[in-house]
Amino acid sequence: MNRREWLYGVGLAAGTGVGWSNAETQPVPGSKSAPLPLSQYEPKSMLQVHETAVERAKFPVIDFHTHISVAAKSEKGVALSAERQYLGTPQELLAVMDRKNIRLMVNLTGGYEKGLAEAVQKYDRSYPGRFLTFTEPSYSHFKAGDYPRLQAQAIEQAHQDGARGLKILKTLGLYLRENITSGTLVKIDDPRFDPMWDACGQLNMPVAMHVSDPVAFFMPTDRFNERYEELNNHPDWSFHDHDFPSNAELLAARNQVIAKHPKTTFVTLHFGNFSENLHNVAENLDRYPNMYVDMAARIGELGRQPYTSKKFFDKYQDRILFATDATPHGDEFPQQVFNDKLYEIYYRFLETDDEYFDYAPAKIPPQGRWRIYGIQLPDPILQKVYHDNAARLLRI
Ligand SMILES: [Zn+2]
Repeated sequence: MNRREWLYGVGLAAGTGVGWSNAETQPVPGSKSAPLPLSQYEPKSMLQVHETAVERAKFPVIDFHTHISVAAKSEKGVALSAERQYLGTPQELLAVMDRKNIRLMVNLTGGYEKGLAEAVQKYDRSYPGRFLTFTEPSYSHFKAGDYPRLQAQAIEQAHQDGARGLKILKTLGLYLRENITSGTLVKIDDPRFDPMWDACGQLNMPVAMHVSDPVAFFMPTDRFNERYEELNNHPDWSFHDHDFPSNAELLAARNQVIAKHPKTTFVTLHFGNFSENLHNVAENLDRYPNMYVDMAARIGELGRQPYTSKKFFDKYQDRILFATDATPHGDEFPQQVFNDKLYEIYYRFLETDDEYFDYAPAKIPPQGRWRIYGIQLPDPILQKVYHDNAARLLRI
């Protein structure tokens, strides 16, 4: 279904849904006597512009950022068990991958210990060349006196068990506390993690690092917030107030880590976690040669600044990795649910000059009320972003 058909579908739904105005005594939403609730506002664009269907990527793709497995148990934002929960079977993933020209999916949340070994067996080893798995820190051991050494050893063990990199969730900086789930927040550049970062460098395991979140999540959830609806739907995503550091403080602490461990490669996820300010991301890339970015769940941001994005992709074409944050059956988050549509939108953004299209398959744009524009990258850049940059970091 193209967007016009989709919009037509919505139009029909809205048309039949006006039942609320049947009773003539009831005010019609949107009229002067009854303001239209924001949640019911679904404007349909009257713009008639060219639409390109990109069903397959032009070149084979490595999706550097997906979540095929997640921790079976977590508390207050901290994963507390090695045990994994699997969100998609290899067969259902491979079917979409083959249709969409995805050569390889990187499952970042592979966990550690037994859970990691199981995930590697289930995907990487059963379907060689199609899946790779990253490990994660075991924060449940954080209180141990020799945690820094234990955690570095755990990285070595994970490497032996087949992990190809380390994933850091925003747990570090926003959830992990001195007593794991209580006490003061642990800083991203806490020296207790230094041996872990160094171990990753020694073992050539890239660190996929998510710190902070969209800037709007650090602002009050009020009428000025550009992501008001999203925060209203997910109040726990707000980091405004309480004892949370600011976005700037989190990024500064992350930069300290990158600067202090120049032999370790850091892929700062979600476009360096500052896609609202590509100038800042560029400055950091210039400053830190061991820093890379992935584009997961940020085409909504990149596509609303197409001129700046296109220049950025040109200048930093060796430092950007294709990624989606795809989560099988993650239907609550339309911008990252793993399916054909998700990839078609990413490909359309990267490969075409289409204008003003939806960045997620959803009735209401889930990450802010705007649409995006394609940046039509030339083939050599597409090849690097889709595949070669990730292949180099993953040593495949
Ligand atoms: Zn993610």
